[in-house]
Amino acid sequence: MLTVTSRHKISAAHRLYDYNGKCEHLHGHNYLIEITLAADHTDSLGMIMDFSKIKSCLLAELDKLWDHRTLLFDQDPLCLSLQKVLADASVCAVPFNPTAENMAAYLGLEFFPKLLQANGYADKLTVNKITVFETENNSATWHNDEQTSR
Ligand SMILES: [Zn+2]
Repeated sequence: MLTVTSRHKISAAHRLYDYNGKCEHLHGHNYLIEITLAADHTDSLGMIMDFSKIKSCLLAELDKLWDHRTLLFDQDPLCLSLQKVLADASVCAVPFNPTAENMAAYLGLEFFPKLLQANGYADKLTVNKITVFETENNSATWHNDEQTSR
């Protein structure tokens, strides 16, 4: 198996719902997201996926989804209130409490696989690992447990 990894920075606000501590308050992070893609074989150019394609097909879409947005759990009452007040697309309602762990799992299980499918890569490679750094020292990693040889 071969892997390639790209790092990408986004800025976003969030708060943890039903949490007792500092993170219950709306605050922001400069997140560093690492995506690792895996394949058994390279293409004729010797690549799993061109880094420029990772940027244009995957990371640019991540920017549209979360960069400079406020990520709130769709069950969080603040989510609906802020959406009403701001009346724009800056609040991103997510179906999970926006912890680094849940963000990594969502990107690894849903968001990036759908984009690989849409761009014709789904039968050539898989998302192997997603790491979300909330700070320089704290990160969460989702691992693809169903990684199989193709
Ligand atoms: Zn936080």
